[in-house]
Amino acid sequence: MFLSDSIGAIAHLFYPSICFGCRKNEISPTEWLCLNCLSTLPLTGFENTRDNPVEQLFWGRTPIQFASSCFFYVEKTPIQRLIHQVKYKEQQQLGKWLGQMMGRQLKTIYQSYQVDIMLPMPLHPKKQHQRGYNQATLLCEGIRTITNCDFAEQLLIRNTNTQTQTKKTRMERWNNVSEVFSITNTEAIINKHIVLVDDVITTGASTEACAAALLKEGASAVSICSLAFTL
Ligand SMILES: [Zn+2]
Repeated sequence: MFLSDSIGAIAHLFYPSICFGCRKNEISPTEWLCLNCLSTLPLTGFENTRDNPVEQLFWGRTPIQFASSCFFYVEKTPIQRLIHQVKYKEQQQLGKWLGQMMGRQLKTIYQSYQVDIMLPMPLHPKKQHQRGYNQATLLCEGIRTITNCDFAEQLLIRNTNTQTQTKKTRMERWNNVSEVFSITNTEAIINKHIVLVDDVITTGASTEACAAALLKEGASAVSICSLAFTL
């Protein structure tokens, strides 16, 4: 037994860990979910389904190579609690672990579509400063350990001066969204198949703006992967 294992085991004697999903069942300190929560996570299977609901979000908007989400996002269920822990409770290791789950789903499709690099969806700089990390970057780290696909954190950035969206028309909103993001090194994306990685996809408006910007600047293809998808 390694020293860190012993310390973890001793800590467990005094501080039993509780499942991050149900907040009821005990788990070992090296785990995040009990077996019950793990086996009932709402997997989408989208990675094996073309024209899946995430891809359909982008139909008639921006050409996407493929899109997939690992889980359905359901309020008041383990997946929502896990995402909350990663975003607001500084559970960075949990973020990487969830990224590894994504990596296992995505490994085959990354190979068959020859993905070159992943870019985490950038947070607003103020939010990133407050949080100290970007949860999408943690997901990328986890995915990389499984797929060996690299990522770049500073290639795509969110600009600081962005106006409120509410009083604009749909077209104005879209133009505004497309000005929200900048690419810091266009040479690094030319002729590359890029995967944008996000935590939760709802309308896909921000990811679409990034995808459009990347294609305009010379990326050969853009795909979109998220941890969860809101129905
Ligand atoms: Zn549980």
